[in-house]
Amino acid sequence: MDTATYATKHVFAFEEGNGKDKKLLGGKGANLCEMTQIGLNVPPGFVISTAACLEYLDSPTRALPAGLIDEVHAQMKALEVKTGKGFGNPEDPLLVSVRSGSAMSMPGMMDTILNLGLNTATLQGLIRQTGDPRFGYDAYRRFIQLFGKVALGVADSLFDAEFEAVKEQAHVKDDVGLSAADLEEISERFLKVIEAHTGKPFPEDPFDQLEIAIKAVFNSWMGKRAVDYRRQFNITTDMAHGTAVNVVTMVFGNRGNDSGTGVAFTRNPANGENKLFGEYLTNAQGEDVVAGIRTPKPIDRLKNEMPEMARQLDELRDKLESHYREIQDFEFTIERGQLYCLQTRNGKMNAQAMVRTSVEMEREGLISKQEALLRIKPDLLEQMLFPRLDPTIRAEAVAQGLPASPGAASGIAVFDADRAEQMGKELGQKVILVREETKPEDIHGFFASEGILTSRGGKTSHAAVVARGMGKPCVAGAEGIVVDVNRREAYVGESSFREGQVITIDGTTGKVYLGAIPTVEPDFTPELNTLLSWADEVARLKVLANADTPDDARRALKYGARGIGLARTERMFNDPARLPIVIEMIVADTPEQRQAALDLLLPLQRADFRELFEVMSPNPVTIRLLDPPIHEFLPDEHQLERELAELHRLGETTRGMVVLAGTMSLIHASDRARVELDTMRRMVDPALVEEAIAKKETMLRKVRVLYETNPMLGHRGVRLGITFPEIYQMQIRAILEAAAECGRRGIEVHPQMMVPQVCTVEELKKVKSYVDTIHEEIQQRYGHPVPFKFGTMIEVVRACMRAESLAEVAEFFSFGTNDLTQATFSFSREDAENKFLPLYNQSTILHDNPFEVLDVKGVGKLMKLAVEWGRTTRPDMPISICGEHGGHPSSIAFCHEAGLDYVSCSGPRVPVARLAAAHAVMAQQGAA
Ligand code: ADP
Ligand code: MG
Ligand code: MG
Repeated sequence: MDTATYATKHVFAFEEGNGKDKKLLGGKGANLCEMTQIGLNVPPGFVISTAACLEYLDSPTRALPAGLIDEVHAQMKALEVKTGKGFGNPEDPLLVSVRSGSAMSMPGMMDTILNLGLNTATLQGLIRQTGDPRFGYDAYRRFIQLFGKVALGVADSLFDAEFEAVKEQAHVKDDVGLSAADLEEISERFLKVIEAHTGKPFPEDPFDQLEIAIKAVFNSWMGKRAVDYRRQFNITTDMAHGTAVNVVTMVFGNRGNDSGTGVAFTRNPANGENKLFGEYLTNAQGEDVVAGIRTPKPIDRLKNEMPEMARQLDELRDKLESHYREIQDFEFTIERGQLYCLQTRNGKMNAQAMVRTSVEMEREGLISKQEALLRIKPDLLEQMLFPRLDPTIRAEAVAQGLPASPGAASGIAVFDADRAEQMGKELGQKVILVREETKPEDIHGFFASEGILTSRGGKTSHAAVVARGMGKPCVAGAEGIVVDVNRREAYVGESSFREGQVITIDGTTGKVYLGAIPTVEPDFTPELNTLLSWADEVARLKVLANADTPDDARRALKYGARGIGLARTERMFNDPARLPIVIEMIVADTPEQRQAALDLLLPLQRADFRELFEVMSPNPVTIRLLDPPIHEFLPDEHQLERELAELHRLGETTRGMVVLAGTMSLIHASDRARVELDTMRRMVDPALVEEAIAKKETMLRKVRVLYETNPMLGHRGVRLGITFPEIYQMQIRAILEAAAECGRRGIEVHPQMMVPQVCTVEELKKVKSYVDTIHEEIQQRYGHPVPFKFGTMIEVVRACMRAESLAEVAEFFSFGTNDLTQATFSFSREDAENKFLPLYNQSTILHDNPFEVLDVKGVGKLMKLAVEWGRTTRPDMPISICGEHGGHPSSIAFCHEAGLDYVSCSGPRVPVARLAAAHAVMAQQGAA
């Protein structure tokens, strides 16, 4: 057919339609055409295009496009020729199904009408022809109900009521028990229901039926269910516009025991196994399998029941796969020993199955390595790396929060951090820490818990950030839950759970369950390794990991990280044993006091670094010098005030008791009274209380002195390293000594020191001068060279502007895109995400959350400038990204284009990033 005719046509026979044109023919229609054209046994039929649908919906009176009905008539004629039957012909009636189908599969679209073309006359023909009145009336009552419901809008419940009434009258429980006469009576009652509802008799003319049905399918595109669905899942008019209508000759799976119907996947969608997977029913129509009226049988059984059909089904499976080169999810019907394929589409699979089938299809020669890689969306891989809920267990969630940190965990609910530590660490129980929200002082509770659940806060709340850092599951902001810490109980709607009761959280979906649900451990399958090794061959960007502890580092290596791109030293301070020393270091009044605290920290940090180096050897380890705002380490001011008030009350009580005891001893003047007085004095020593008060007051004073209006823009990063040089010097020493010790033991190490928050080269020069002095001293002491690299984070706008000058001192750059995004937008992340960003996104003032998706146009522009200017000074300078964006596919694509050398992301994102880095190359090649 020439393209001009094709463009003006509205209706396409399965032999004519372009199977690649899903936009025009819908997914179902395009594949019916494609299958017909490659010789699969599809019942004859035709597709009315989505373009016709749009024209219809756009016309002011909702009229079908001119000429459409003529095309339909012509196609029906052709169907009559192909089938040898007649539409509306009582001698040998042609029956069809009318099925909707848009470019995207979309529940909520119109249901399918089966057996269209039946009326009082053709029904008798069907009965005569099949010699089976029961079959005839069964088909009839199904048609009337479907047509009534779908095309005429009659409520299902009205039909159900009649159906049940007849069943009762006939004393049968199952539909199969109904006789032909029962079904006839049902049909008659259904016709009356329709007449009562529409005020008109049921349309007898098959062409009237067809036209009404076509219009109903078109109208369903704008139906509430469909519109809501498209909004919910962001289906734009680009992706699917209008629905097609498929008119398909009926085939009957309910013609006896040599007939049946089923659905199957060409491979197992749960694990990827290369074996037909599906279910079928004998003597049943398609809708029965889905409706769940009878329990279907596993497809394996077909070999025994209908061996020839099983053989043909295998053949169909092979043909589908070798043609589509993708796992297919298809529907089939067997009518008296004839196998028909009624639908196919690409099968939806979980991550494990996607990976396995990718690798196996490449080995089978079905697809190339590149295609194997492109089949998988990088984000999908993350699913494989966390424990997840056993998918075979059905459970009802009691609350829905935000999926704040992926993975699933069960444990007993505990409502404060101390209890969590006690139950978790001391008693060895699995606990889930449940809080309204968490604070830095809850950190010990995190360590002791399997997972964290909060009823308030977002994806960047303290709970979410810390849990992600630790790789523990977290559901945040589960607002349906009311936490009552004092009663150690939480309320969820009608139900509640107390401390000690088991709950399950799924941080991947944000769902919360009562009771224990088993989890499946993640496994890094051999197939995933193979697939990722292919990705590495293609990718140019290297992938490193953000890892703060040796455990993180080991995990990152397992995921294929080629080094550590960011180790945050402050995370090492979060240990409850170290925190007091760190606080000492910060609040010290004199350099001597500070040095005393630092002397305690030095050996601890040195040991931290040595272990990191050992684990990662011979890969590079990039250590960022201390960065966070100091208030993150200090006790909360209000908390301190409350504690002080309590101490004062306690002081009064103790003083009162001492006075009381003194008076008593005077009155009684007995030895016994004196002894009692002494005991009491020992027990409630006001001096002790006073000492405690003095300590707290000092701390409160210091906390107030150190208070900052804007800590994120305040005394942090290199600024801290310059005002308190001892702190950075301690860290530099710890790094270099650890490296020297490894060197002495023959372990290859590549330490990289990275300075945060730099805005001018003078800061870098200052820190570099500490490094040089300490480095020289250590080399002399150890008597062998200690290699290192010195670089800077680029996370301040001015740093981008001054990249050319920074590169004189910095040997490498790493973009800290979290801070750089805050600085570029002048948005504080917490405030933005909690207050105005959602509205900005909704109203598309900003399309994405720039903290999740790198803002290529603004932040990216700055990055490109910094890359260009940095390399003007130092042409071969390694440049990377270590912000959260470093693990997100679209941002990785940008980093590839911008000429970065590597990305660094959290361990579990490493596989995602490896695949995304390969995709970036292929996308660029594809574009070129
Ligand atoms: P859905 O999109 O809900 O799967 P379908 O259009 O595929 O709807 O149809 C619903 C059921 O009816 C399926 O089981 C399908 O196989 C069956 N069906 C559709 N058309 C025919 C037909 N012409 N002959 C026999 N069964 C059919
Ligand atoms: Mg449907
Ligand atoms: Mg279907």
